[in-house]
Amino acid sequence: MRLRVRWDLLTRKSGRTITTSEDEIRSWAEEYANENGWVLNPDEKTLDTVIRGLARNKQKFGEQYCPCRFRSGDSEKDRAIICPCIYNRDEIAKDGHCHCLLYYRKDAAETLTGGIK
Ligand code: SF4
Repeated sequence: MRLRVRWDLLTRKSGRTITTSEDEIRSWAEEYANENGWVLNPDEKTLDTVIRGLARNKQKFGEQYCPCRFRSGDSEKDRAIICPCIYNRDEIAKDGHCHCLLYYRKDAAETLTGGIK
């Protein structure tokens, strides 16, 4: 059984209380991938690492900043790297996957797995 990691309550400036967890981010990422005709990285180890990084950034900074890119510390500039970042569509079209290896074009994922069921 997959260990469910739930972060403690996070409070935003608005006072709105939110909870986040790796499972919630993973579900969100699956939905986003489906909407775009992509899949998540079929390599569970890599996938878990990226999801954990997103959850960590969400907990630490209040936004799910890309775990594979440097934050400048300027919240306006860094909006570009809140997942899904502004680069993902171009990267996936060109390389078959985003920079973090979270989202994959189906054909690119199939080359990793020899075919997705
Ligand atoms: S590179 Fe991938 S994981 Fe990182 S922010 Fe962009 S879409 Fe998200």
